[in-house]
Amino acid sequence: MAEKITSREADYSQWYIDIITQAQLADYAPVKGCMVIRPRGYAIWEMMQRTLDDLFKREGVENCYFPTLIPYSFLQKESDHVEGFSPEVLTVTHSGGKELEEPLALRPTSETIIWHTFKKWVQSHRDLPLLINQWANVFRAEMRPRLFLRTVEFLWQEGHTAHAHATEAHNFAKRMIEVYREFVEETLAIPVIVGVKSESEKFPGAVHTFSIEAMMQDKKALQAGTSHDLGEKFGHAFEVQFQNHLGELSPVYASSWGVSTRLMGALIMTHSDDKGLVLPPKLAPTQVVIVPIFKASNKETVLHAAQLIASELKQQGLRVILDDKEGYTPGWKFAQWELVGVPVRIELGERDINSGTLIVSRRDSGIKDTIQRESVGTIVRDLLVDIQSNLFLLAKRRMDENTQEILDHDALIHYFEQDGGFALANWCGDALCEQQVKQQLKVTIRNLPFHLNEEVQGISGTCVVCGEQAKHRAIWAKSY
Ligand SMILES: [Zn+2]
Repeated sequence: MAEKITSREADYSQWYIDIITQAQLADYAPVKGCMVIRPRGYAIWEMMQRTLDDLFKREGVENCYFPTLIPYSFLQKESDHVEGFSPEVLTVTHSGGKELEEPLALRPTSETIIWHTFKKWVQSHRDLPLLINQWANVFRAEMRPRLFLRTVEFLWQEGHTAHAHATEAHNFAKRMIEVYREFVEETLAIPVIVGVKSESEKFPGAVHTFSIEAMMQDKKALQAGTSHDLGEKFGHAFEVQFQNHLGELSPVYASSWGVSTRLMGALIMTHSDDKGLVLPPKLAPTQVVIVPIFKASNKETVLHAAQLIASELKQQGLRVILDDKEGYTPGWKFAQWELVGVPVRIELGERDINSGTLIVSRRDSGIKDTIQRESVGTIVRDLLVDIQSNLFLLAKRRMDENTQEILDHDALIHYFEQDGGFALANWCGDALCEQQVKQQLKVTIRNLPFHLNEEVQGISGTCVVCGEQAKHRAIWAKSY
């Protein structure tokens, strides 16, 4: 039997670690800040990869691969980029026992090496747009590592595009944040707020950074994905130009966008409970577990009936496991499958077989039902759809209930002192106001949501910090 999972109420951070280690998603590695992703965790990451990869291809993006090692000088070619990343870069100084003339960076992100290469690939307007993605590992120094959320080496995808026009790059960056929203909401069942980052929170070297922000069960925000309009900065830094229709040299505009294994953290912290992992059916490597309840005398009959159900469900495209291990009680098995988050469990014993029924339980609500054997296929499929939407609705309700409009500075302080979630408040646009709140309350502007900043006439009302005329509506929160 697994050790007891710390309850969320007792210690939320320990609960998170307990879920990861006991559900065998990941493990600590010998090097501080690194992690081992175990098969159960990697299977979920693979499900994410498959779905996302299809979405990228739908958008016309092709996969490729660039090396991990980047000449350090590349990072220095774009000034904002080097300033933002240099504190986080890991460098290689020796090769084959000899000191290198120029140190190499373990990529913290790949804009520089990719734009260095784009110079060779882009010459004429016919070469544009260029839409690529790579599935890769990246490295960033991490002072306070946490499994999946902040690790020195992590897995991600990074998309990079090159365009002939500034608006095209801008629109593509916006398009990709919408693709991330679609993926995170529909597959991970995590509701998000889509918007643009403030100047101080944007990606080093970006003109605009767009983000999707989710609320975890402790009401903190988690940035689940970002997309950047990079303007002409990288094209300029790496001297990429193209010949336009008139034969003149024109600048090339860029976007980049990424999501990482951090999404695993978001997934765990959004849906799981004190019994273990809860997975949305679309992402669950195993969607249905069948636990036959037998003794030596009726083993053959019960297992045979269970096998028929398993193959019927598999034929319908469902991912099914038949747990026919011996030497464990049904109760022990139930707890194990709950721990690893299988959405639907079917139990059957001899009595069920005789009455033509089965017991079906759902992991999200714990509700058990006796159903007719002959309708198992339809019922389980409907149940999986229902669990997927129920998880989204629960998370959405939690986010809505913990988002509050805040009008002035005192109310903002009070809200966060009282363990508030998301504050929706006006902002003048001045970084000093943002900085003041960050220092005072450890609260940052998560983003300026698109849907709240569309008024053509501008925003009415005053800044929640300084009381001057507001320019934006912002979501403020503590974050991971
Ligand atoms: Zn202000």
